[in-house]
Amino acid sequence: MALLHINELYTGETAEIVAINSNCSDTRRLRDMGLREGRMVDMLHFDPLVSHKVVLGLDGTRLAFPLTLAAHIVVRPIKSHFETLRDMANYDQLTGCLNRHAANMILRHEIRRYADQELPLAVLMADIDHFKKVNDTFGHTAGDQILKKFAQVAGSALRRCDMLCRWGGEEFLVLLRGTVEEEAFQIADRIRRRVESITFPPYDACGLLTVSIGSAALLPGGNFEQLVAEADKALYRAKHAGRNRVATISDEC
Ligand code: GH3
Ligand code: MG
Ligand code: MG
Repeated sequence: MALLHINELYTGETAEIVAINSNCSDTRRLRDMGLREGRMVDMLHFDPLVSHKVVLGLDGTRLAFPLTLAAHIVVRPIKSHFETLRDMANYDQLTGCLNRHAANMILRHEIRRYADQELPLAVLMADIDHFKKVNDTFGHTAGDQILKKFAQVAGSALRRCDMLCRWGGEEFLVLLRGTVEEEAFQIADRIRRRVESITFPPYDACGLLTVSIGSAALLPGGNFEQLVAEADKALYRAKHAGRNRVATISDEC
């Protein structure tokens, strides 16, 4: 897409900064604000008729600066207003995972499709252990950062065909397409081990962060509600058996 100056973006558009005019005496000021090449920005507000300020969103932070500086920033539009809104509706803003609403629609469709074709599919329900302690000890902001890192670590243990979504709070659901029970268990344990082996500052001062995971495989004639309920039950078993483990509903506790 064509390059523009940042004040030419419409409200709601997302763009990548490609250059900051180096002849500008205010370059340093802009860089000190965190604006630099390669960063993504959201145009939160600019109305040339009533406002002399450009308001940007930068990695979740709001940034306002005078219009006089805006013309020095060259950007490449990435997403339209509509695409930005669509992403906001489907993705969790904190972790970047699919949110529950979007995941629900995909899961229902995929589970029906795999059940009809009698193909294997499994679901994992993962819940961070003792997460309340993280918030109580280090505060909600640190908790948020840990959730963000957790999603990256869990995602790194998955394949391209798998789907990670934030089911709610510190609970994540993973859809494993074309996956039989044993393999689902192995993937779940890979997530569990990876989380256990990584430090989550500042929580590591308190011990290792761990996750409990319930695993459930699609049975013949199974449906979305049953599968998610089974994964939930298995998660409950994993918690009950002492946490930091993977369980299936057929496990003996
Ligand atoms: P368990 O091992 O049994 O899962 O214990 P837990 O402490 O993880 O579970 P509990 O349900 O008691 O607490 C979950 C905590 O997760 C409480 C809630 O404040 C926190 N939480 C949920 N969503 C968020 C969030 O978006 N950010 C932060 N920082 N905390 C969150
Ligand atoms: Mg928990
Ligand atoms: Mg929970």
